[in-house]
Amino acid sequence: MGGTLVVVEASDGGLRPEVWELVSVAESLSDGVTGGTRLAMLGWDMGAAGEQARFSGVEEVHLVEDERLAEPWPEAHLELVTQLSARFHPEVVLFARTALGTEVAARFSTRLRCPLIQDAVALALGPEGMRAVRPVAGGAVLATLIAPHGPWVVVPRPHAFGSAGPAASPAPLSRHRLDLPAGLKTRCGQVTRQAPGGADIEGARVVVAGGAGLGGPEPFELLRELAELMGGALGSSRPPCDAGWVDPGLQVGLTGKTIAPELYLAVGISGATQHLMGCSSADVIVAVNSDPGAPIFRVADYGVVGDWREVIPALRDALRDELAVLHEAGGARRERDTAASRAEPGWMSRSASKPADLLERQRS
Ligand SMILES: Cc1cc2nc3c(=O)[nH]c(=O)nc-3n(C[C@H](O)[C@H](O)[C@H](O)COP(=O)(O)OP(=O)(O)OC[C@H]3O[C@@H](n4cnc5c(N)ncnc54)[C@H](O)[C@@H]3O)c2cc1C
Repeated sequence: MGGTLVVVEASDGGLRPEVWELVSVAESLSDGVTGGTRLAMLGWDMGAAGEQARFSGVEEVHLVEDERLAEPWPEAHLELVTQLSARFHPEVVLFARTALGTEVAARFSTRLRCPLIQDAVALALGPEGMRAVRPVAGGAVLATLIAPHGPWVVVPRPHAFGSAGPAASPAPLSRHRLDLPAGLKTRCGQVTRQAPGGADIEGARVVVAGGAGLGGPEPFELLRELAELMGGALGSSRPPCDAGWVDPGLQVGLTGKTIAPELYLAVGISGATQHLMGCSSADVIVAVNSDPGAPIFRVADYGVVGDWREVIPALRDALRDELAVLHEAGGARRERDTAASRAEPGWMSRSASKPADLLERQRS
């Protein structure tokens, strides 16, 4: 049948953001592929994700929802992808760069004896085969690879490609049973989740990240406080993770998370290439560093040359004051609105009963 098969794990009731990016990668390759794009979602407790996936712009959605897929069990996911692939014979199989997706992609390409392209930042499919660009040598160099023969198993780098938008009409959805063969070599035991605490760094609009320049674990609490004030998440460069100051799940960079927040505040981070590979897609980068020659200032939109011990507490206090003023102003406006609605019942005021006005009031 051919086409592209997009494989994503699903959980927690919503469509994972990777879907949009993978669909956009599939669209960009569509001229070189015979057949459309199918989306396979494997997992448990998908909630509305299946229905949402129907509007992702693919031709077909295939769901395998089973309690045994609630935890990341690579061997089971591999079996299912193999079964779906035997059915659809895709020319390209795209996996999300999650811990599970990366592992299943590697196992799957080994099983099919076909090329695996990990961490691609650019892709083109033509007569010569799949041409891919990916960072190598710790991100210092971009290499171009050519894999002449498919099927191609590809794990694109997050945020390296655009995201597809929702489609106007829904794709057909099929549900499949989990059909695991006997004699799997592994089983998924009890999973202990590490709780980094606070907001999810990958989905956060603001990330406040600390580096080796903080000198220890305690200052990260100050950064966490600042991140919370801004409704954001805490991040880190690699040394604090390696030293055990913070959870490894907070690491930003080549061997950590690739993020694209609206604001990235880097504190005591030098700006090594491997770190920047994880945050350079941020809309705005602000750096606080005591060394004016730190490489982070070459990519930062705004920079403060100074000691974080002075800059960060001052920023936190200023932000707190600003928020308190805004809060007070919001309270005064609410009081005014309440007094006005007491003086003039809603039935007397035509404008007050307009849905938009009511909505606006609820918001404020
Ligand atoms: C294969 C490979 C993969 C890697 N993957 C990653 C990765 O995913 N993520 C990652 O981050 N790194 C990664 N690294 C490591 C990377 O090369 C750097 O070593 C690391 O990013 C440096 O972290 P840092 O900026 O926190 O520390 P440093 O380079 O030590 O910088 C600390 C900074 O803090 C500043 N500073 C010190 N004191 C203060 C103060 N009081 N106030 C303000 N500023 C201060 C200093 O001027 C300095 O610029 C990888 C390396 C390799 C080889």
